Amino acid sequence: MAGISNRQMFLQHVAQTSGAPMSIEVQKAGGVILTDVSGKEYIDLVAGISVCNVGHCHPAVVKAVHGQAEKYMHVMVYGEFVESPQVSYAKLLSDHLPSTLNTVYFTNSGAEATEGAMKLAKRFTNRTNIISFNKSYHGSTQGALSLIGDEYWRNAYRPLLPGVMHFDYGSDKVFNEINENTACVFVEPVQAESGVIVPPEGWLQNLRRRCNERGALLVFDEIQTGFGRTGNLWAFEKNKIVPDMLLLGKALGGGMPLGAFIADRKIMQALTINPVLGHITTFGGHPVSCAAGKAAFEVLLNEKLAEQAVVKGRFLLDQLKHAAIKTIRSAGLWMAIEFSDFNFNKKVIDHCIANGLITDWFLFAPQCLRIGPPLIISAEQLSTAAKIILNAIDSAVADSHGGS
Ligand code: PLP
Repeated sequence: MAGISNRQMFLQHVAQTSGAPMSIEVQKAGGVILTDVSGKEYIDLVAGISVCNVGHCHPAVVKAVHGQAEKYMHVMVYGEFVESPQVSYAKLLSDHLPSTLNTVYFTNSGAEATEGAMKLAKRFTNRTNIISFNKSYHGSTQGALSLIGDEYWRNAYRPLLPGVMHFDYGSDKVFNEINENTACVFVEPVQAESGVIVPPEGWLQNLRRRCNERGALLVFDEIQTGFGRTGNLWAFEKNKIVPDMLLLGKALGGGMPLGAFIADRKIMQALTINPVLGHITTFGGHPVSCAAGKAAFEVLLNEKLAEQAVVKGRFLLDQLKHAAIKTIRSAGLWMAIEFSDFNFNKKVIDHCIANGLITDWFLFAPQCLRIGPPLIISAEQLSTAAKIILNAIDSAVADSHGGS
């Protein structure tokens, strides 16, 4: 159809979930750089929301995708055939996890990992109730939505799952509410969409202790925090406790769709009986996604990207000083820069994007600017990013003064 741009067709024929999508038309992406169809380059500070930790289209990942696509793609629904990309990735993940996290159920997405984990916890404990936290995000499907901790995002989709209780993240009030009806507690070891909130010292350990006392399973959602983002391979390592179940997604697939819930074999076995086929999926653990994810994980390990995240995070933090910044919360190479309000933040974001830097806000913290680049980002790119952000803040300040 002559005259109609891709952008117009995007707005007409691709379902929208916001009235103001970023609408950057991507031509290619490599490493830390996105290029749009006009040839304009952007430094990517969000990595597809914590997905591209080893960068876009890492050659090892692309090679793995090609290699697997040439051998076989979908061959059978999940769990029936022995598919070597699944097997070897599950083994590699287990090798880098505590011994009780030894059995991997691969899904298509993070939300599906949440759904599977909720079902497994109920089935294994024979209990009905689930605890989660205000301002947590665990996915957008109906069950995961019932867990997320924000009334604005939940309310339109009632009735929600019964038996879900929410508490403030980091609050001691939750401890007495974990009881003999609690199947599990879902928690992010660092809360993502509230704007990178690290819980108070000792709180996760107390949660672990209370779950043990009451026979409830502790589920860590590391869908955003995993794969080196916070400076450890897994964020929970810092707290020296181990969850009963671990949720992974995003960077797990190295840029391909993949999620997982991981537990001890004796827990996971509950999905095989009464009913048999306790969680089923056609495409979960797709061989091409597993091959890509394994290649990305190997890059992450070989290049010690988790350690690099700490150094690079500090390097960037040192450069981000401005009177209009209220605070910066951070963990590794992951930051929330907090401003006075969303309008100010939006001006900063728009200015950044106009000047070749992709950033965003957080779902439950619209006043916070999101920084979570590929972990391979260079010092030079970080310094360029810092300059663009500081200029954008200056412009937003000038604009606010002009407008008042
Ligand atoms: N859990 C967390 C912490 C997330 O950040 C997300 C996605 O942003 C999810 C779960 C859901 O993952 P997905 O979008 O793959 O369903």
